[in-house]
Amino acid sequence: MKSYITTPIYYVNGSPHIGHAFTSVMADILKRNREALGYELMLSTGVDEHGQKNQEAAADLDMSVEEFLDMRGKEFRDVFDRLGIAYDYFVRTSREGHKTAVAGMEQSIFDKGLIVKKQYTGTYCKGCEEFKKESDLTEEGQCPLHPTMKVEQTDETNYFLKMEPYREKLLQHIADNPDFVQPEAFRNELKQMLAEPLEDLCISRPKTRVTLGVDLPFDPEFVTYVWFDALANYLTNIDWPQEGYEAWWAECEHLIGKDILKPHGVYWPIMLMAAGLPLPKKLSVHSHWVGAGGVKMSKSIGNVVDPIEVIEKLGVDALRWYLARNMRADSDSQISVDLITQSYNSELGNKIGNLLSRAAKFSKARFDGTVPAPGALSAEDEAIRKSVLEATSAMGDWINLADIPARMQSIITVADEMNNYFAEQAPWDLIKNEETRERCETVIYVTLDCLRVVMEALTQVIPTSAEKALRMLNAPEIARPWRPELDKLQGNGELGEIETLFPRVQ
Ligand SMILES: [Zn+2]
Repeated sequence: MKSYITTPIYYVNGSPHIGHAFTSVMADILKRNREALGYELMLSTGVDEHGQKNQEAAADLDMSVEEFLDMRGKEFRDVFDRLGIAYDYFVRTSREGHKTAVAGMEQSIFDKGLIVKKQYTGTYCKGCEEFKKESDLTEEGQCPLHPTMKVEQTDETNYFLKMEPYREKLLQHIADNPDFVQPEAFRNELKQMLAEPLEDLCISRPKTRVTLGVDLPFDPEFVTYVWFDALANYLTNIDWPQEGYEAWWAECEHLIGKDILKPHGVYWPIMLMAAGLPLPKKLSVHSHWVGAGGVKMSKSIGNVVDPIEVIEKLGVDALRWYLARNMRADSDSQISVDLITQSYNSELGNKIGNLLSRAAKFSKARFDGTVPAPGALSAEDEAIRKSVLEATSAMGDWINLADIPARMQSIITVADEMNNYFAEQAPWDLIKNEETRERCETVIYVTLDCLRVVMEALTQVIPTSAEKALRMLNAPEIARPWRPELDKLQGNGELGEIETLFPRVQ
């Protein structure tokens, strides 16, 4: 059983931001979930190093292109390492093997007569690195995505991939494979994009304008359009066209933001069809983050959330938790450092960390550094144990991107129930009398064992903290495939050192 998860490769003309952190954290959560289920995983993330904007960004900083790309590649990699992204492959499109394979793909499509050379006169947006139709522009004649960047008039000869011959076939594929694009809102959006005849896709840029890219194998005066080159990473990462890539490719799922649905939903499938290759299994699309109050994040407003700042202030799991808990696949969600801090204090801190700390410290102090062995269970014990199994069982099943927030909600709901159980059973009263001492032992055991189950589930989401908690509980190693199971905590077993898992932050 294999699963290959990809994030987009990020354009390095700017520093990594919350959007990059988000997609990569979600990919990491899906990876950990599937590993827990016993799958063999491949997760790729990385950087797109070609194109005009990178070339110009290097020039702006007065750096050589190589120095610039090394610096940015390292910067992205560092951020992903700090976010705890367990990627198996970090993509750099400047890698020779990647470039050779891209050229090979182009040549094979060219040989089939599907790439034509022609002159193009019209508008070009440097921000998108794309030619624009008049209908793509605003009333003022600007790119809607780059209103401050004037579109340019171009008159250029370029190479174009014929798209229209594959439009019906792609629509048929979408109809035959309802899971190909999720969630449904974006499947419908993609169908809309394919409702009208498709124009040919320009896949080259003349070297007079852009030099940073993959040379066209059939015309050295041109480099490959940055999207064509970038999309191919999904295959070159698994060593396409060499043998052995097929098993991974058959299980490939692309995670993407809604802004890049067109390249992934239209260009990429048609490139693959033109090259005679199968399509990826799935496109999982997510929406974006906006500031508190639904205000777009911008430097001038000062509401930009910097992932590194959040990690330094609150720890990596505060950020991972917030993203997982509050993301929505089909609508934008709000984020701010205040919102993350609130969620960290009230959910991770008060509901989960605090209960662990109280129960474990009590146990350690009252039962000689150990977890007590339980006696007979009461109806209340049985009820809370059942709730914990129910709330965490979905983490033992395959999780789709859009399911993540509901899984987190279940965990918070059961954490509330566990807190109520602990308060109602009041072990601090039970310990006072010899005749209720055994009952106290049972309550503490049940609480700690339930926390162990929750923490095992949370290793998929906030691995650093969850693993720390499991060490405090001296929990046995997690079995694969994982299912929530009770009574794995050893009665009379030693507890580890108890620390505060989520120290309160003002
Ligand atoms: Zn644009």
